[in-house]
Order: sequence, then C-alpha cells, then structure tokens
Amino acid sequence: MKKRKVFVFAILLIPLILILLSCTNDSEKVTIPVQPGGQPTTLKAKVMAAADSIRLAVQRFRGKNYKRKVFVSVFTQSQYAAQVGNQFDTIPQSTKNLYNNILRLEGLLRPGADYYSSYDSTIASGTAGFYVPGTDSLYVILADTATGLAFEDSLTLFHEFVHALQDQYFGLDTINNPYAPSDMYYATDYVIEGEAELLMDYYYFFLNSGAYPTTSTPVVNFLNQEQIGADADLDTMHQHGEPMLTNMPLQWEYFSYGPRFINAIAGMNWSIIDNTIFPVLPLRMLEVLHPQEYSATNEYVLNTQALDSVIVQSNLIEDDDQLGELLADVMFREWDFAAFRDIPNGMTADESFVFRDLQTDTLRMVWYTYWRDSSAAAAATFFANYASLVNKKRNIVLPPAVDSTGFAYINDTVNNIYIEQATSYVFTIENYKKSALSSLTAACRTVQPASAWGLAKARARTSARFSRVDKHRLLDRGIRRFPPARGPMLAARHFLHPGR
Ligand SMILES: [Zn+2]
Repeated sequence: MKKRKVFVFAILLIPLILILLSCTNDSEKVTIPVQPGGQPTTLKAKVMAAADSIRLAVQRFRGKNYKRKVFVSVFTQSQYAAQVGNQFDTIPQSTKNLYNNILRLEGLLRPGADYYSSYDSTIASGTAGFYVPGTDSLYVILADTATGLAFEDSLTLFHEFVHALQDQYFGLDTINNPYAPSDMYYATDYVIEGEAELLMDYYYFFLNSGAYPTTSTPVVNFLNQEQIGADADLDTMHQHGEPMLTNMPLQWEYFSYGPRFINAIAGMNWSIIDNTIFPVLPLRMLEVLHPQEYSATNEYVLNTQALDSVIVQSNLIEDDDQLGELLADVMFREWDFAAFRDIPNGMTADESFVFRDLQTDTLRMVWYTYWRDSSAAAAATFFANYASLVNKKRNIVLPPAVDSTGFAYINDTVNNIYIEQATSYVFTIENYKKSALSSLTAACRTVQPASAWGLAKARARTSARFSRVDKHRLLDRGIRRFPPARGPMLAARHFLHPGR
C-alpha cells in the first residue's frame, strides 16, 4: 500500500466557496434604480445592467443559451484581497517549507524563493474577476474608487459569463479529476481559460467596431501581439525576483497558448468546442502547445509500476506528478536558458517522483522522460541541457557524460546524481542513496510507454491517481486576470503586480 500525502489545497476550496456563497444573494435582490433619462445610477445597478447585455452577447457569440440564471456580484479590489488574497495562510509553515524544498529539488524554484508568498501576492493583486464552479455565480473585481464599469471590466464580465455557460453544459468542477497530474490539469485549464479568453477577444473587437467579426484574422494577429507582451512581462517579473512558476503558466494560459489552442482546433466554428474539445479534452500540454498532437493517432501513457514499487519500499512519496512540456519550459526558463521552448520540445510523456527517505529524512528525486523521436536527437539534446541545468541549480560541476554500451550517462558520486539517456528516454536520479542506485536505474530501464488513442484519453483522465504538490492552483478556476496592454484602445498596462 502506498503512502500518499493528503491533498491540502482541495480542502481549502471548500471554506472559500462558503465565503463566496454568502455574497451571492445580493445581486438577486437588486432592483435597478433609474434616473429620468433611463440610466442606472448606483455602481451595482450599472454592473447589473451591463451584465444583462453581456450575457446576451455571450449567447449570441457562442450560439448557446444559458440553462439557468447567472448571479453577478461585485468585490472591490481591497475586499477581494482581504478575503481571498492570502489563501495559503492556513497552510502550516512547515508544510510550505517542505513544498518549497520539493519545488527546488525539481528545479522549479530557486534557493530562497517562496512560491507561496509570491503566488498569494499575484492572486491578490492580479485578479480581475472569477467564477465559482457549481454555483452559477460570478464575481467582478472593481477598483476601490470605481463609480462605473471600465472597458476592461466589461471584458472581464464577458469572460466570466463564458465560464458560467461552460459550467452549465460541461460541469467545470467535474471535468478535472482531483488526482490528475499537473500536466493534465494545465491541459484542461488551458481549454477552459482558452475558450473564455478567445471569445472575449472577439467581443473586444465587437466593442471596438460595433460589428461581430466575420473573420478570425484580426483576433489571430492580436493573439500574436499578446504573446509577445506576455513574454516580455514574464522577463520583467523574473528580473524582479518572481519565480517563473508563479506567472508563466498563467500568462501563457490567458494571453498565448490557451486561446491559440482553441483557435487552432475550432477556428470560428464554436460547435467544435462542444462536440470535440470538451468531450475529448487534451491529456497533456504537449497537445496544447502543439495542437497537431491533439488529433495525432497515438497518446503515450507510461507504465512506471516497477519504479513505483522500488521507491515505496522505504520511502514516503511526497510528490508523484507528470510535469510535462509546460513545466519543463518553466524550469529551463527559470534557469535562464534562452532555448527554453526548444529543449523540452516533443517530450512525449514523463513522470517525476520526489520521495522522503524515512531513515535519513532526505528528499530524493527520480524524473523519467520518454521521447518518441526514434533518432534519439531530442533525448540527447535534453540530456545535455538538463545536465547543464543541474549544474546551475546545485551550483556544482557534474563529471562529463560517459558513453558505454549505447547509454550516455553521468554519475556524480560526490553529489549523488545519476543521469542516463538512451534512444527514447532520459532519466535523472538526484540525491540518490548509494545502496539503492542500481535498483532504481534497473527499474527506470523497465518503464514502458503504452499508447492510447481517441476516447482512451477520457479513460486515462478518469483513472489518474497522482498525488502531487500543487504546482498549479485549483483555487484559480475560472479567474480572469488583468491582461497585458490591449492594443491601441487601452493605453495603460492593466497587469498589476506586487513588489514594484
Ligand atoms: Zn477564466
């Protein structure tokens, strides 16, 4: 029987929802006071009037009607920050320290960085609105001094209304298995946010021109610009000491690969979202980052049973996850590799384990990556660059790779790091226990990919059994973030960020 850690963040979601639910009835009771000229006067009345027309716009854009009433509530920025902004406060400091150490061992965090305070600040100040799955309730967050809706607030309302529609048809709280690995979580979330953001981009053009767009060209061009802006923002934040892990998966989700994936698969034919994408969600970020992989014949699922059973013999598994191409990108970018997109490109499947040696209380790691490329070029590139990343993250110099009987491997017996590459795989064992190295390497060499196809994706999703430290955030579901500058219509950059 495996020992697995309880998943802390799923529990935190419940009190949050209760807090939020207590706010929902307000909007129901609102009657809209109007001046003699017919314009609503109070802030709340203005929001409700706007929400009415935006709800109709979502129905028209998407060609689907709401099944139930959607409730709208308003938070001011400071109310939101006070209620939701410090969501990690209830996690014991010892747990945060452990999780930070796990993320550091995985190369996703630098020494001294604190993922939890960084992320708390980002949520508190960078959230424009959110939707709570299963409640038909959405929230828009306005400036403390707001007396009406800004242009950007209308876009936020539109985005959240799309989530309400998604929820009524596809059940946002049911399509993500809580035991899904990070890679699958992101793939699902990139669909959910990608659709909301892409449709909202169309609405943005509608507000600008007064007409419904009949071609995707301006939106596609706009997405290309947004990606450039998002990546520039990421570099700036990183220069100010923010971990890539806090911001990069989000920036790409909203302003880049999320909407680009939906556009690549569906174009302007929204029924493809209903009939294809939601019924067969992507399993991995590989498919989102390379949309041709979404409809590829084969998916690969690793059988790591032998490795599992070696690890659990005398260890407690702290983090069992699939990092996938996205978090590999994050990792290489965190350590300033200019080719962060290319190095993990085409990583087909992976599984990572961080486990605690119960005898010595040491954290150890095994990360196995599978590469479909039969020429071994991709695996060899990853091997060389990962070795270089380990040098940076550990501030050491690994011994050069040794070639022997078809393997390339590095064995650092001082720092207890072993990295091996063959045609189709690279694995790394870090902080290894000397007496366990041979059994771990032998078990890694037995890992086999099984291929799944089409609807097998759905089965792979429901059977996910991972137990991992939350590198993403379930609390984020349905949030709309302040975007980077949005073309000539908005001069100011609306992305708020702490610490600057
Ligand atoms: Zn959203």
